[in-house]
Parts: sequence; structure tokens; C-alpha cells
Amino acid sequence: MAVPKRKTSKSKTASRKAQNMKKPISRASSCSQCGSPALPHHACPSCGYYNGRQVLTVATEE
Ligand SMILES: [Zn+2]
Repeated sequence: MAVPKRKTSKSKTASRKAQNMKKPISRASSCSQCGSPALPHHACPSCGYYNGRQVLTVATEE
């Protein structure tokens, strides 16, 4: 079985693990119904629409 020749340095480990921390939620997509920012492939949190029809009952609606 292959064995690593050198111990992975703290710097190398830290720089690899830094990728796990920098993940901002990309809200590049906006709702086609109300225009507020919404995640792609998710129902809109503010109006409850997805793919042109209402799929969620939003509590703030009257
Ligand atoms: Zn919406």
C-alpha cells in the first residue's frame, strides 16, 4: 500500500480546508413572479411560486 512520502504541512492542510469555509449562498436568480431574490430550483420564499404556479402557502399573504 502506498504511503505518503511527507507529512502534510499545517499550511497545506489549512489552505485545503479554507475551501470549506468560503461558500456564500449565491442568490443570482430572482423570482419571475415577484422579482425578489430566490434560490434556483427552489420555491420563492416571499410569494411561494415555483415554475409559474403557487406551490407554497406563504403566511404573510392575505
Ligand atoms: Zn416570488
